Amino acid sequence: MNTTPTNPVTEIVVELGARRYRILIGAGLLGQPQHWLDAIGGRHLLVVSDENVAPLYAKKLSTGFAGREFSQLILPPGETHKTLDSAATIFDALAEMSASRDATIIALGGGVIGDLAGFAAACWMRGIAFVQMPTTLLAMVDSSVGGKTGVNLAQGKNLVGAFHQPRAVVMDTDTLATLPPRELVAGFAEVVKYGALGDADFFAWLEDNTQALLAREASALTHAIATSCRHKAAIVARDETEQGERALLNFGHTFAHALETASGYGTLLHGEAVAIGMVLAAQLSTQLGRASVADAERLAAVLARFGLPTAIPAGLDADVLIALMQLDKKNLSGRLRLILWRGIGQAEIVPDVDEAAIRDVLTTD
Ligand code: ADP
Ligand code: ZN
Repeated sequence: MNTTPTNPVTEIVVELGARRYRILIGAGLLGQPQHWLDAIGGRHLLVVSDENVAPLYAKKLSTGFAGREFSQLILPPGETHKTLDSAATIFDALAEMSASRDATIIALGGGVIGDLAGFAAACWMRGIAFVQMPTTLLAMVDSSVGGKTGVNLAQGKNLVGAFHQPRAVVMDTDTLATLPPRELVAGFAEVVKYGALGDADFFAWLEDNTQALLAREASALTHAIATSCRHKAAIVARDETEQGERALLNFGHTFAHALETASGYGTLLHGEAVAIGMVLAAQLSTQLGRASVADAERLAAVLARFGLPTAIPAGLDADVLIALMQLDKKNLSGRLRLILWRGIGQAEIVPDVDEAAIRDVLTTD
């Protein structure tokens, strides 16, 4: 893979009121600090990573620091470690360094590390700088953009958290070379989501470029990631704290969260659950007379071509799923509020969805 400094770097600027920061996308960026070192000020620098990612990429990153002193904290991988205990480990590391308010945390890893390190950065001395360096496709196109940080409790995912925007997001597409295939494929569900919810042209491009993307061709990946990030950044800029439009990013997600919980955490990857959830949202839209059958079929077809599941796994009960959907935090006063669509590229918020229609699409037999 070509990682010379002449590789093009795609830059997306995120504007949030008075704050602005850059998302950089390019092959080899971890080893090219000239593109991002300006986002890292202060004396104290802490790199947070996990046991899978650090052996692969921490060294490349450290050469980028060009002699600057930094500390490193390597946590065990996986969603089960996105806890207050892990956050406390980060606080301990910061205390150990005598980190002051001008310290910077760098999150090098997938969404788990990004959420966790971002949360610690939001809390330490009421907020210090952090830089996201996502190494999974899912984190690149979703969790590293938008400023949501947090940890899980035994009672539920992301129950404790804060909005805290990074100083910069650095996406080295070379890191995707080592991502396990199932993790890569799961990330494509969120990519398809951007086409499905608001960009019919991008959706068609994804239909035409599935093979190039699965083969991890750099130019195709960069286009898919950049387009996804542009959509997310634009929506977040218009609605940072999810009062309205940002809810569209949850297309497929109310179903997905119920599926993840019902099947037991870890059985379905988040992206896999989102793929099924989007198909269900499209089928429900058809059922309610809001969209065509053909569009729901096109969505299921492109997801299947990426190797994603598109139907509810056997043995999951419709009533259990509906009960879980009722708990979803997006509901207002007991009514089922879902993101449905009018067709490809046209998602919409529907405030009060008929439960019988939902039961119909959830009933598999
Ligand atoms: P996500 O980004 O999907 O939320 P995680 O942060 O849990 O998920 O990352 C998924 C898994 O992939 C973890 O086991 C993590 O250590 C591993 N991982 C992350 N990035 C890479 C990479 N570039 N190469 C290999 N493994 C990776
Ligand atoms: Zn998601």
